[in-house]
Amino acid sequence: MNRTAIVTGAARGIGAATARRLAREGHAVAVLDLDESACAETVRDIRAEGGQAIGVGADVADATAVTSAVDRIVDTLGPPTILVNNAGVLRDNLLFKMTEDDWDTVLSVHLRGAFLMSRAVQSHQVEAQWGRIVNLSSTSALGNRGQANYAAAKAGVQGFTKTLAIELGRYGITVNAVAPGFIVTDMTRATAQRIGIGFDEFVARGAAEIPVGRPGEPEDVAAAVSYFCASDTGFVSGQALYVAGGPRA
Ligand code: NAP
Repeated sequence: MNRTAIVTGAARGIGAATARRLAREGHAVAVLDLDESACAETVRDIRAEGGQAIGVGADVADATAVTSAVDRIVDTLGPPTILVNNAGVLRDNLLFKMTEDDWDTVLSVHLRGAFLMSRAVQSHQVEAQWGRIVNLSSTSALGNRGQANYAAAKAGVQGFTKTLAIELGRYGITVNAVAPGFIVTDMTRATAQRIGIGFDEFVARGAAEIPVGRPGEPEDVAAAVSYFCASDTGFVSGQALYVAGGPRA
């Protein structure tokens, strides 16, 4: 069955790959990101393959922006019953150098963003008595040097996921988390730049630690998200699936 999906942070990286994948599977996709014009490439790619998509500009951490974005998606594509909370930012620093702004920004985008988006979408899912929410966590939820803010947010995402799975299960809604390891995107490029090494070397060092011997691509994560969004995976809920080429990366 074709449905309406929202993918946040879908202008690029994992979100863009996920939006393309869900569109290929027949869903109409709202490609949501901070800046609507940044969504144009993902929307163009989907339409070029015969899919249906619109770009929507909204800050997921802003309650008013979230409400009007979801209203617009309902009017344009129909009630959203698939939500992928993917938007994310990094503000890495060791604890003693981490500012309050570094902490608040990361917690706000990942946790408040997932909360606001899920709250806005759940009424449409309850109405449909069917829904899928997939939240992007990370292997950093297990702890990662320089990422106290991000690790706390990504571990929080897993608790949030399990709680929504308990609350929403009776309405035919599943809620799961995908926790990627090292994935080649602008986010990992920015990390290489921050620590002052070339991206090729950074990728090679990362791959050496990964049991399958390569870094992940956005499509690897999109495949896992797609599994949780499928109509025949309705008995799988409250799970965190690590997509890291091994137990962790
Ligand atoms: P990315 O390439 O940096 O893309 C993230 C997107 O989210 C960007 O387009 C960004 O927009 C958007 N965004 C940021 N703040 C937003 C906000 N407040 N409202 C709406 N959109 C916002 O990141 P990625 O690597 O694809 O990561 C996607 C998700 O996977 C994130 O949740 C990340 O934490 C998680 N993850 C990534 C990796 C990895 O190795 N790449 C590993 C584990 C988990 P701007 O460009 O305008 O900022």
